Amino acid sequence: MTWLFDYDLTLYGHDEADVLWSLDRNITRFLMQRFAWSEATADEFRKGYCAQFGTTLGGLRALHGVTPTEYFDFIHAGETLLQPKFEPWRRELLLALPGTRWVFTNARRDWAERGLQSMQIQDCFAGILDIESFAWDSKPSPSVYAEVEIRMKEKGSQLILLDDKPDNLQPALALGWRTVLVHPQCEQMQVECTAKIKHLVELPQIFSKLLTE
Ligand SMILES: [Mg+2]
Repeated sequence: MTWLFDYDLTLYGHDEADVLWSLDRNITRFLMQRFAWSEATADEFRKGYCAQFGTTLGGLRALHGVTPTEYFDFIHAGETLLQPKFEPWRRELLLALPGTRWVFTNARRDWAERGLQSMQIQDCFAGILDIESFAWDSKPSPSVYAEVEIRMKEKGSQLILLDDKPDNLQPALALGWRTVLVHPQCEQMQVECTAKIKHLVELPQIFSKLLTE
């Protein structure tokens, strides 16, 4: 059994969303510099690209020929980035899971690595499946999920994906993976998935349901 954890807003929750906002501010700064846009315009385009292309980078590559390296080198630099905090329960929860644990993220490895170190859970994972390792393709592109099955040497219900974005769960469902939506508003969200939790801390509560279905 292999557990695949999205990084942002899944391994750390919406209660620490200021971590992701600090990265978003850097993305906005990148757009302001590159296109000489105002902060408000840059912010709007950031959100628009993310909605249309899955990631801001997706839009920048498709429409403006921005290279992933220049983009990530810029947004992962600077003193203003925040990191999620160490909490003992998180480590205990992860280490209690049977099987292998991986991080499966649309970010570049160094962003997730820094956060895992800050949360002191880097040794809870066998590795990080990041956007660079998929030649800059990312969730929810179906070919990425097919590649994960090859790399993990596991298929279907042997794989469990936890993610805060409903769109990222759909290709996993199509392959028969077990899927967990992790989102504070999950109960109101109409999403097909194996189980829903508001926060990672609730994972033990759905554990038996998850493994019997
Ligand atoms: Mg996420």
